[in-house]
Amino acid sequence: MLRVAVIGGGPSGACAAEILAKAGIQTWIFERKLDNAKPCGGAIPLCMVAEFDLPDSIIDRKVRNMRMISPSNREVDISLDKVYGKTENEYIGMCRREVMDAFMRNRAAELGAKLVNGLVTNIETGNNRQGPYTLTYSDYSSGEATGEAKTLEVDLIVGADGANSRVAKAMDAGDYNVAIAFQERIKLPEKEMTYYEDLAEMYVGTDVSPDFYGWVFPKYDHVAVGTGTMQKNQALIKSLQVGVRERAKKRLVNGEVIKVEAHPIPEHPRPRRVVGRMALVGDAAGYVTKSSGEGIYFAAKSGRMCAEEIVQASQNGKIVPSENDLKRYLTKWDKKYGATYKVLEILQNLFYSNDGAREAFVEMCDDLDVQRLTFDSYLYKTVVAMKPLQQLKLTFKTIGSVLRGRALAPDKYTPVPSAVREDDEVNKMLEVCTIKGGIKVPANSKSQTESNT
Ligand SMILES: Cc1cc2nc3c(=O)[nH]c(=O)nc-3n(C[C@H](O)[C@H](O)[C@H](O)COP(=O)(O)OP(=O)(O)OC[C@H]3O[C@@H](n4cnc5c(N)ncnc54)[C@H](O)[C@@H]3O)c2cc1C
Repeated sequence: MLRVAVIGGGPSGACAAEILAKAGIQTWIFERKLDNAKPCGGAIPLCMVAEFDLPDSIIDRKVRNMRMISPSNREVDISLDKVYGKTENEYIGMCRREVMDAFMRNRAAELGAKLVNGLVTNIETGNNRQGPYTLTYSDYSSGEATGEAKTLEVDLIVGADGANSRVAKAMDAGDYNVAIAFQERIKLPEKEMTYYEDLAEMYVGTDVSPDFYGWVFPKYDHVAVGTGTMQKNQALIKSLQVGVRERAKKRLVNGEVIKVEAHPIPEHPRPRRVVGRMALVGDAAGYVTKSSGEGIYFAAKSGRMCAEEIVQASQNGKIVPSENDLKRYLTKWDKKYGATYKVLEILQNLFYSNDGAREAFVEMCDDLDVQRLTFDSYLYKTVVAMKPLQQLKLTFKTIGSVLRGRALAPDKYTPVPSAVREDDEVNKMLEVCTIKGGIKVPANSKSQTESNT
């Protein structure tokens, strides 16, 4: 009888364990911290709610408007109302990861997976990494801080243990480049929080990120304010966060930082994602998209697809699948999502490269066809082909925007105005306090920073 260990209890691990348990396969799911609040914006596409049967209770906010803000502070709303009409049916879900992950993990446990509150510290991989595999782990189920050292032998491992994956090391999966993401959770005054009720903001500009974007995402009772950048610019991350704070300071006025967090985000898949009877899924494999930095849906989906392949190849756990059996999951994955990753990489290289291109990007987002395409592909993970006339119009628009973009790029970055208060009132509030706590903002603030067009 097949024995499977899923290491990691985030979306990828929980969804893998669910499928395995449902098929009656003997499954252990290891999670080092059952109340883990993964540093994350927590935005999920609508299709994930139905596809993964998520209850309304795990969605804190239903965002219907994504406000894009260019380097010169041009604001463009990518609005669900504009694209789909005023219905409540479409939204981007905003979740707390500790709530969502626990829900999916517990569901797998209720279906029969054995949930172990333990940190896997070592993996013996057997001859030629073919298994059986001996896991050593610290079992925290008694509540002791040190944990009890235990071992477990299994035939197959699903590595769902995130960007710092121990399974990837054990199988010699090879390295990937990572971006670094930095985020502050900020409690806002009621008026400001109401503004972010069903709205998220994305800021672009060299001041907030040379290769990505800065964000203000609404969470349960606060906002997550952050930025990301590629590994090569890692040393800049705090000054980029200062950039986001500065641009959004009139909207975050008198906020209070309640948490500061940072985490790597994989930029591309690892060289090897299946070795022997060990398969990587989610961030451990490297499935976050460029441009948007989206990884939750792809983590859940890859966990599910990998587990489905295991169920089929093992005949519901009767035999141990081979390395080639597991590799079939990779073939299916790459066929289904390879083009999506490529297109988003091209968009990132094209539109996040300098402030002129970023101005063009935001201007293009004002086009209804672009908005529909963006939402259809994000919310439903489908790409709807454009009519030839639409395509032609978009091509001309792109050229026009790119030409105009350079002229629109600002010399200096300035804060966006408050959305809920008069400027006089905000300026007085800023004199008392901009944002309490979190990273130190130098007196010589980023709003004076020269722009890099
Ligand atoms: C700041 C930030 C913002 C983001 N915002 C978004 C967003 O808004 N929307 C989106 O779609 N994506 C976002 N992402 C990406 C998203 O967070 C990841 O893609 C997603 O969490 C991947 O899920 P996973 O299950 O593969 O890994 P993880 O969520 O990292 O889960 C891995 C789990 O494994 C556990 N674990 C690790 N090692 C061990 C071990 N040795 N033993 C036992 N347990 C272990 C960890 O505790 C963790 O719970 C963001 C990422 C960052 C850093």
